[in-house]
Amino acid sequence: MQNFVGVGVFRGRVIGPVRHMPPALAEPPAGEQLESSTTPEAAAANLKDAGAAVKAQLQDRASRATGAGKDVLEATALMATDPMLIKAAIKLINAGSSAERAIWEAGESVAQLLHDLGGMMAERSHDVHDVKLRIIAVLRGVHVPEIPDFPEPFILVAEDLAPADTATLDPEKVIALVTAGGGPQSHTAIIARALGLPAVVAAAGAYELVEDSLIFVDGSTGVVSTEPGENERSAVALWQEKAALLSVFDGNGQLGCGTLLPLLANVGGAKDAQEAAEAKAQGVGLLRTEFCFLGNSTEPSHDDQVAAYKGVFDAFPGQKVVIRTLDAGADKPLPFLTDSTEPNPALGVRGYRTETTTPGVLLRQLGAIADAAAQSEAVVWVMAPMISTPAEAADFAAQCAEAGLQIPGVMVEVPSAALTSRHILDRVEFASLGTNDLTQYTMAADRQLGPLAALNDPWQPAVLALIQATVEGAISQAKHSASLAVEDSLPKPVGVCGESAADPVLAVVLAGLGVSSLSMTARALPAVAAVLRTVTLAQARQLAHKAVAASSATEARDLVRDALPALKELGL
Ligand code: PEP
Ligand code: MG
Repeated sequence: MQNFVGVGVFRGRVIGPVRHMPPALAEPPAGEQLESSTTPEAAAANLKDAGAAVKAQLQDRASRATGAGKDVLEATALMATDPMLIKAAIKLINAGSSAERAIWEAGESVAQLLHDLGGMMAERSHDVHDVKLRIIAVLRGVHVPEIPDFPEPFILVAEDLAPADTATLDPEKVIALVTAGGGPQSHTAIIARALGLPAVVAAAGAYELVEDSLIFVDGSTGVVSTEPGENERSAVALWQEKAALLSVFDGNGQLGCGTLLPLLANVGGAKDAQEAAEAKAQGVGLLRTEFCFLGNSTEPSHDDQVAAYKGVFDAFPGQKVVIRTLDAGADKPLPFLTDSTEPNPALGVRGYRTETTTPGVLLRQLGAIADAAAQSEAVVWVMAPMISTPAEAADFAAQCAEAGLQIPGVMVEVPSAALTSRHILDRVEFASLGTNDLTQYTMAADRQLGPLAALNDPWQPAVLALIQATVEGAISQAKHSASLAVEDSLPKPVGVCGESAADPVLAVVLAGLGVSSLSMTARALPAVAAVLRTVTLAQARQLAHKAVAASSATEARDLVRDALPALKELGL
């Protein structure tokens, strides 16, 4: 037996066969020439055969798919033998280019052409990029980098996953995720939690696991073992028993002393929102609007935006829905907003900052949000990602007012915003702590990098201190602005919508630090609610105080865990 230890990002224990996500395909070198042993005619025939093979593969998948997925696969299949694409590539082959380089360049120019035509045609440019890569994979005799398609359930093992990969993941087929890279706040981790999939990230060396071999995955401890035996089988059985205890939330987040702490859901679209409503979430604390448009190469139209947002609002009539404007950039690139050549995208033009390079998109989005809100009964709050200064908060509030939106807020996910929350809250109505980015920026550790997973831990006392500073800023803002005797209360709400809120133990600390709501994947609601009910506000404050004063993330986590005997009973 061999063990790989990574970071567990969603609890659950399973045993299943390994299926690898093939590695990304490298671009054929610019100027790559046809080999002297091949004639242009033979290379062109090869290329046509590869196109036909891709068409057949996609048609086969389409025959097993249903609904919108089937239509997309059928349309993409046709693109694989599209005469415009193939002819353009053959022209390049005849001019001396290798077949791989020719289809790469032909694909790029056809995609650009479609992109420039705009509208529906622009959407097809994705299909061209997709078939271009598939044809290159066939020419090289390797697998296309996509989630493998097998009839039996399996454990997906990857170097790392992009949000677009995980968006097509079918939780009926993929029973657990293991990545060698990625951190606990990476988007792979976020999607694993949203899908309720046991997942381990940053498991160094895990990509070497043998295809089709059986492995054991423990999403709580981060252990991945080969050749599972009796111990692992009983661990899986025990987990199945405990999991049943933590499967429901009664829709009422509160501490043991009766202090209310609303528990909301993080969603990426209407389907998530319906699931969150069924799971009795008390509203939506974060709608990641960029997740609605990850495949778009052009700005979504007003009507498409209204439809996407309204689908979420309609799941929560009369309840709060916090919608976040597009957070494009870093690991969530949107071609119409971000520059893929930026050397350091996490520190680049992302989130609200795209307003400086692509002005107008934000105000148009706010207009669509206002229209969707007017057509629904949800209580719509709107917030901007990546706010760094009070001036940015003021500009965002002014744009919300111009669009007719009454409740503007900001994400606090940059340390400067945490440290100036008093001035920021003078300009907007609420703040929401994005602890995923707050952690990466506090610790200067890219949230996507496996080797930095230990730094990228929201239990780091420095991160907890910034959460505390944000809440203290909100309290002092209230005291100054209203000249009331406000004692430790938050007239302007400060919630948490980062992944830290989904950790039932850290949720106790966040409650003790004084945040006003917690928002998480709907799957985490039952466990967070169950643990919060085991402590009073006074106990939570004491534990929060100790966690902030700890000298390391491990010390903070251990001392809070040791003070919560209920965790063992709940199997957490
Ligand atoms: C965060 O940074 O904590 C957050 C909620 O935003 P995202 O994970 O989408 O960057
Ligand atoms: Mg963020």
